[in-house]
Amino acid sequence: MDPVSVAGVASIVGGKVHFQGEEREVGSVAIHSDRLQADSLFFALNGVTDGHRFVARALANGAIAAVVDEARLAELPAGQGTLIAVADPLAALQAMAVWWRRQLSSTTFVAVVGSNGKTLTKDALVGLLAGHRTTYGSPGSYNSQLGVALSVLQCPKDVPVAVIEAAATEPGEMARLKRMVDPHAVVFTNLGSRSGQNFGSRDEHARELLSMAAGLPEDGWLLMGEDDPGVIAQARQIVPERQIQKDALPRLTRQRHVERSSLVRAALPDGTEEDLLVATPSPEVLKDLELAMGAATLLGMRGADLLAAVADYTPPSTRMQMWRRPDGATVVGELANIDPLALSSALRTARSLMGAQGRTLMIIGDPLAGLTAETAEAMARCLRAENVQLVCGLSADTHGLIEAALVGSDVRVHRFADEDRMRAFVATELRPDDVALVHVPRDTMVTDSWMHLVETAAATRLYVDLAAVKDNVAAFRKLVGPHTKLMGVVKAEAYGTNPVTVAHTLREAGVDWLGVATADEGVALRRAGVQMPILVFLAVPGDLDRLVRNRLTPSLYSMEMYDAACRAAAGSGRRLDVHVEVDSGMHRSGLYPEAAIELLGKLRGHEHLRLAGLMSHLGCPDDPDEDDLTREQLKRFGSVCAAAAELGFEDVVRHTAATAATIRFPEARYDMVRIGLGLYGLQPSTATSSLITLTPGVGLVSRIVEIHNMVPGERVGYGGLFRAQSPDTRIALIAAGYYDAVPRAFRKVGYVLVNGRRCEIAGTISMDSMAIDITGHPDAEVGSDVLIFGQYAGFSTPIEQAAAAMDTVSHEVLTQVGPRVQRIFTQH
Ligand SMILES: *Cc1c(COP(=O)(O)O)cnc(C)c1O
Repeated sequence: MDPVSVAGVASIVGGKVHFQGEEREVGSVAIHSDRLQADSLFFALNGVTDGHRFVARALANGAIAAVVDEARLAELPAGQGTLIAVADPLAALQAMAVWWRRQLSSTTFVAVVGSNGKTLTKDALVGLLAGHRTTYGSPGSYNSQLGVALSVLQCPKDVPVAVIEAAATEPGEMARLKRMVDPHAVVFTNLGSRSGQNFGSRDEHARELLSMAAGLPEDGWLLMGEDDPGVIAQARQIVPERQIQKDALPRLTRQRHVERSSLVRAALPDGTEEDLLVATPSPEVLKDLELAMGAATLLGMRGADLLAAVADYTPPSTRMQMWRRPDGATVVGELANIDPLALSSALRTARSLMGAQGRTLMIIGDPLAGLTAETAEAMARCLRAENVQLVCGLSADTHGLIEAALVGSDVRVHRFADEDRMRAFVATELRPDDVALVHVPRDTMVTDSWMHLVETAAATRLYVDLAAVKDNVAAFRKLVGPHTKLMGVVKAEAYGTNPVTVAHTLREAGVDWLGVATADEGVALRRAGVQMPILVFLAVPGDLDRLVRNRLTPSLYSMEMYDAACRAAAGSGRRLDVHVEVDSGMHRSGLYPEAAIELLGKLRGHEHLRLAGLMSHLGCPDDPDEDDLTREQLKRFGSVCAAAAELGFEDVVRHTAATAATIRFPEARYDMVRIGLGLYGLQPSTATSSLITLTPGVGLVSRIVEIHNMVPGERVGYGGLFRAQSPDTRIALIAAGYYDAVPRAFRKVGYVLVNGRRCEIAGTISMDSMAIDITGHPDAEVGSDVLIFGQYAGFSTPIEQAAAAMDTVSHEVLTQVGPRVQRIFTQH
């Protein structure tokens, strides 16, 4: 952004200056009081927290001025710096974006809108154009009223192309976004099958999204990724026919699945055809990539350039993968281009997400052709700064440069004649709690060459998509609004995943609290460096000293817990925050309302304890037939809250809702909601699925380890329940049994997926293995991946559906994933 005076800002945003400081020019904007640049203008927004509470801090941290709500001016500290008072600070930020957009008249702005796939399409388009023209892409999935404003304001001057993602979740939102983006061209990804929720109808929804393309310039275009004739008809009403682009564009046709990639045939409008290997197995990702190719073509990218860019393109979800071995060692695969900055951030992300306590190893499997001595030195500095203990490299000259730059430091360097030897060394070297960052060339999938490092013990893997977890946190944040706190429930190993990894992800996603069941679970999080507030639902009286020492907050669900809390707090000499649990009718844990009120009496003015929260748990909020019971529970809880207010308690965080109640009962949300299942994108019941869209993010995958050809009449497994019928019957053995999360009852689900095709379960499930029928499925072979439940590689068997077939809930299906199963975390 070009520098502008405070008076200039005031005139852009229509505000009034309350001048108290020296005159300096503004060159950037900030919305976090601790993330300022030297020339930042701070905007006090009402988001998750009230930005006005941070104005003083922002000014103290050097903000040139703060844009504030004029109605709040009186409460703000005077004399600390310049304030610009406006009617609506968010609208003011948007006005700045509109102003900056006008300065960027030589940049071609492309807006990406639609229900699904926006971020992928945008990132793919930016990736494809990268070698062709300098292109700016909006960061991450910034696409809201705030996100688009920041995206536009961060767009540098003089870039030829800017690609901005924009999302409307309510009628009328697109018009505000359009003023900021003012696009030359629009890419419409799709309308999605579950659209229309907030828009009255699908048509309304389509019109809203398409309104981004209203009044495009003469040479502008609208690229449609949606085939639905109804949606195309809507587009025709908004954009002249000749500007709508659908045909005569590149096409990608998937030929087949190759390991974790797809072999595709790319056909360009000029008739060129070429087979390419694209680093994704997912048809959805290919569709987004195809659309991005269309947009790149319309932006002037042609022939060989375009095909080369597609072959180079790595979808973001495969850029970084993390595996945790059963012994606790972590292997992180990195595919991004190596540069010192990216290296630092990859090392840090990996260590913090995995809560790593051990050593850090850097494994360079990429020859790094063309690396200069200067970059090698920068890399060496970064490896030292990040406390990497061991670097493994190849005999390549470039790796020699890195080794030379590390001479005299504490970093050990080992170089190997080939990758096999390096892998064998790393396999014996890696210890529990170590993190190994593996860097391989862009065109290899880390999973292929390095998988065996983590596979010594397990062929069965639980994939957890941390990006989906973040998306789900965002969906709940949107649902409950800015004033309700979010607690992420990470008990039971975070539902069978990994509590430390999930906890760090939740913190990054803006979750306020964590919840666990036992003291041990809380202590383990503290040991791994998790600093967030943690509530322990079901500690026992003997745990209290440990809770105090570890800054864990107990829930007092009995008088014994109260007595123990008094003793522990008195002994520590510090005041202890406690939550009181009310049994409002589920009769699991908690004090009856009368007893809870009695306890409140004791807590009033208590020397050692402070009532920080009041909680209850609901028995059947997922079941519409039992809504009367739920309301009765809420009423009883409400009466205890009223008593607390009468007794003069203030700042008490009241909470009753887990995932289901959060979605179905707004009145149950109170001051905080406790989300467990929903973090993984799972729906508690069919009654919730129409009310919120979540991103499923977990999949259990195993592998075929053996294949048998059967003779008719032969029987399989314990009890001989499966009987071969035809002479070509083939049975495959999978290395996952009931110890690994496939309970015997899984037979009732009936099938698993191999390359997306259903294969029936053959006979009984054993402790360590199960058999499936792969007759008539020639591409199922030893080593093929088998999706047991959840999401993987673009295929899915909903966990909710599997749970229902087994007469249980998704919670149980997830938490049964046993210790032998490899947890693999992916993140964008
Ligand atoms: C497990 C638990 C939750 C989370 O429940 P979900 O249905 O998984 O969201 C919330 N609160 C308490 C007290 C719990 O025990």
